[in-house]
Amino acid sequence: MKQLIVITGASSGIGAAMAKAFSAKGHPLLLLARRIEPMQALGLDNCLAVSVDVTDADAMKAAIATAEAQFGSVGCLINNAGVMLLGAADVQDPAEWSRMLNINVMGVLNGIHAVLADMKARKTGTIINVSSIAGRKTFPNHSAYCATKFAVHALTENIREEVAMDDVRMITIAPGAVETELLSHTTNDDIKAGYEDWKQHMGGVIAPETIAEAALFAFEQPQSVCVREIVLAATRQE
Ligand code: NDP
Repeated sequence: MKQLIVITGASSGIGAAMAKAFSAKGHPLLLLARRIEPMQALGLDNCLAVSVDVTDADAMKAAIATAEAQFGSVGCLINNAGVMLLGAADVQDPAEWSRMLNINVMGVLNGIHAVLADMKARKTGTIINVSSIAGRKTFPNHSAYCATKFAVHALTENIREEVAMDDVRMITIAPGAVETELLSHTTNDDIKAGYEDWKQHMGGVIAPETIAEAALFAFEQPQSVCVREIVLAATRQE
């Protein structure tokens, strides 16, 4: 059955790859990110792209209501939008911590809040939260980023326990390093260069399309099967 798929952070990287993968299966889409042009440039059928900041809960709810009026209830919400601002804990600007906490944690909760009550009432639905391997293990200079991703793992698992009896599926996807724009927002050039060296050292990272296929695999299981977590990374990543 074709269902409305909502994807946050669809203007680049993993979110854009997910949009293409779910669209190829015939699902109508609502794509959310701040930059609208790259989402429109994907040129997907039955696709509504809306400029929304995921920290704005009301804007997210309004965009979802508009899409539901056009395409029916949300079948799957993919909370993918996120930023990674790396820095040493003693010198990093706390404004970067706030930004990450707001986007990576509050943004995910805002998305969940916008759809969960309706999914519970309808006794069906799927929410996929994109966390990270940095939500399972720590890395130097990642303290606040890891804190946000450990939080995504925790809240996903917690809500899964809350809504299991309502047949709503809560899924965590935890990628290792993926080739996207994610690193570009880190402001410390030495840390950025070190990260690039690390990627070279392991012989490259995985493609956004690989993460999109994992999300599709989880979504396409019968509603009675919940793939609780998928962790996937380059074989050589430590
Ligand atoms: P990108 O930087 O390529 O994509 C991030 C997306 O998030 C963009 O579409 C961006 O859109 C959107 N975004 C950022 N801030 C906001 C906001 N305030 N409101 C709405 N959208 C926002 O990185 P990735 O594709 O790599 O990242 C996607 C997810 O994958 C993130 O949660 C990231 O933490 C996670 N991840 C990535 C890994 C990697 O190595 N790349 C590894 C593990 C996890 P716009 O700027 O237009 O708003």
